[in-house]
Parts: sequence; C-alpha cells; structure tokens
Amino acid sequence: MNAVIDILPLAEGGCADATVRQERGQREVFCGLTGIVWLHRKIQDAFFLVVGSRTCAHLLQSAAGVMIFAEPRFATAIIDERDLAGLADANAELDRVVTRLLERRPDIKLLFLVGSCPSEVIKLDLSRAAQRLGKAFAPKVRILNYSGSGIETTFTQGEDACLASLVPEMPAGDEERSLLVVGALADIVEDQFARLFAELGIGPVHFFPPRRAGLMPPAGPGTRFLLAQPFLADTARALEARGAQRLAAHFPLGAEGTMLWLRAAARACGVEATRFASVVGPRRERAARALARHRVQLEGRRIFFFPDSQLELPLARFAARELGMKLAEVGTPYLHRAHLLPELELLPAGTPLVEGQDVEAQLDRCRAAKPDITVCGLGLANPLEAEGLTTKWSIELVFTPIQGFDQAADLAELFTRPLTRRLKLVA
Ligand code: SF4
Repeated sequence: MNAVIDILPLAEGGCADATVRQERGQREVFCGLTGIVWLHRKIQDAFFLVVGSRTCAHLLQSAAGVMIFAEPRFATAIIDERDLAGLADANAELDRVVTRLLERRPDIKLLFLVGSCPSEVIKLDLSRAAQRLGKAFAPKVRILNYSGSGIETTFTQGEDACLASLVPEMPAGDEERSLLVVGALADIVEDQFARLFAELGIGPVHFFPPRRAGLMPPAGPGTRFLLAQPFLADTARALEARGAQRLAAHFPLGAEGTMLWLRAAARACGVEATRFASVVGPRRERAARALARHRVQLEGRRIFFFPDSQLELPLARFAARELGMKLAEVGTPYLHRAHLLPELELLPAGTPLVEGQDVEAQLDRCRAAKPDITVCGLGLANPLEAEGLTTKWSIELVFTPIQGFDQAADLAELFTRPLTRRLKLVA
C-alpha cells in the first residue's frame, strides 16, 4: 500500500483494553435541545417545536446566538404553571399551538415535537400527540417526536434522538448496495465528501439526515453505513434493526482520521488500492502540510478534555497524533466501546480516560494538571479562564465545520487561536 495512505505509527499498545474511569456525580453539560441549533439548518423544511418552559426557550435563544430569521424554524410551546399544576389540558393546548403554527406556515413538511424536562415532569405523552396530530395533518406534514430533556439527554444526544426518530421514515429501498453517511455535517463538508466518493467510484451514496424531508434516503439490508459523528448510538441501532450494516471506522477528523474513514468505505466497496491512493493521497498530503504550521505551535502542549460533546476521543486522537499534543485527561459523557474502538486503538497508551462526570473532582484534577488548553462547556470556561487556564468551548467544535481534509487546519486552528490569544495577553 502507498505510504501516503498508511496510518501514522501505531500508538504502542493503544487504549483498546484500557481501564476507563467511571464517574457518576454532578454534571455540567447542555441538554439535548442544543442539537436543534444545527439540525434546523440541516433539514430545511423541518420545524422543531420544543414543548417546554421559558428556561428551554432561553437556552435555545442563547445557544443559537443572535439569529434573525424571517421565518424561524424552531420555537418553544411554553408549559406554564397552570399546565404544571394539572389545571389545564396540556394536550388540548398543544393541539391548538400546532394547528395555529401549521396553518400559518404551509412550508413546514416535517414537524418535530421535542420533549423537555417540564413535559416529562407532567408526563405529557408526545408520541401519542405526534400520532394524533400526524393523522390530522397527513399527508401534508409528517409529525414526529423525540426527547431533548436534560433528564434523558446530554448535548449531542439530541441529534441522536432526532435521527433515531427519523429512521422509521426511511424507505426500505431496493438498491442492492448503497452507502449511507450518518450524522449531520455542514453542507460544504457533505459536498466535499460526495465529490470524493464519486471520484473513488463509490455509489450510490446518501446522506442522513437529508436536506429536505421529502428526500429521505433508503435504509435496508443493502445499506452499509458510515457514522460521521461519534454520538449516534441509538440511530445506529435503529438502522441495524432495519438490516443496514455499520462499517467500523475512525471519525473524519484530521488528515489521518479522514483518510481512515474514507478507507473503511473504500474497502467495503472494493475500491482498488491504487485508485484510493491517487484520489485520497494528494488531498491528505495537502491537509498534512496545512497542519504543519499548527503543529509547530501545539507540539508538546498539554490538553485536557472535559466530557461534553462525545467528540472528545476522536479529537484527542487527532491532537495527539497529528499535532503532537500531550493528553492530560480525556473525558467523555458516554463511551460507546464498539463505535469508538478504532479511535481507542490509536490513542497513546496510558491516556487517562474518564466516562461520565463528577465535575468538582474533575475540576480539581484539571487545576492540578495545569494543562495548556482545556476543552470544556461554556459553564466551566469562564471560571477556569479567571483562574488563568486557557479554554476552548466544546460547543464551537460542534458548530464549526471540522470534518474532512479541507477543514483539518481549521480544526487545528480552533486549538491554536486561544493559545495565541493567551500568549498575547501575558506578553
Ligand atoms: Fe433546562 Fe430541561 Fe429545558 Fe434543557 S430541557 S433547557 S435541561 S428545563
């Protein structure tokens, strides 16, 4: 095999059999409603109606930043005190809100009723509501439900819950063999991957979620799927239940990660090694060259990951192997061993791995480790910065297009930028 497409030297021993420290204490993470911020941009004729409280509305507003839409694509139906006290019929109110919304907005083709902590507390059955309303508005609008509540989900798990609710909507498909890329990617990244697959002669290739509700890709026994995101355990399970087969792969972060991700698809689809090398090799080389100037700044620096987005393991692999960084600790809210096994294999042996969170204990370890950069949630960043630590908000890593060859240097820059800012401040 051509040297260009070989992986870097294996981390001796890796972390495949490593003991992962389990923590079950206080957590400091966003709830799954956050996923709406990127999902509503992806499926362009969908609408997300959170059935929740003013807190939920506020979270969405602040996570989405100041975005002004002529026609917003998410909203919160507020459950107020009367509902919470059982004085009002929440179902009747919900029907009224949905009817008003759909009458005003004929462009909505897919409506998600998104559960929250308050809707769970009053035991509002959103799956029955979705069925009831779905019948009333069929076939013009599909109505589905999932939970984004902080009781059940963290941050990126909202996307998993949303996509899992969409799987039953996928047609069975009569394609003998197709490749399905699973996980929301920025359109620009999706287009780059589509071109790469075409050049490799892999096809048909579909992306899930689709850009429009009416373009639902097929899923069945002929489907092989490649996860583009590491937090899609329920979605993968639902696809496997339909007979689709998951391709074990790394995640497409960094030049090496992207090459390995593509290689998993190429191998499954019988792409010749020489063709793979001629299509992928030059792009990987270009990405590696673009990374070199970041490596100069980051090599030997110590990085600490708080558990937040579930992207932590592939990010740590990228930071260690392609940027030469030292991993002080890698936390993840949830570790899916099977999906993350290839990543674990490439992590340097002895990397401290933590699943779950006990925020105070972790803060103590972080302070003691004195890392050069700490990747954490918004809530922890300010206090840590005030203590003199340099931080990177993990939410930025989810909102920014970071997958693929052309984005590898942008991903590295997300780590170099806060460091150079801090160096300037102390200079
Ligand atoms: Fe807060 Fe729960 Fe609403 Fe999330 S769903 S914003 S955790 S109340």
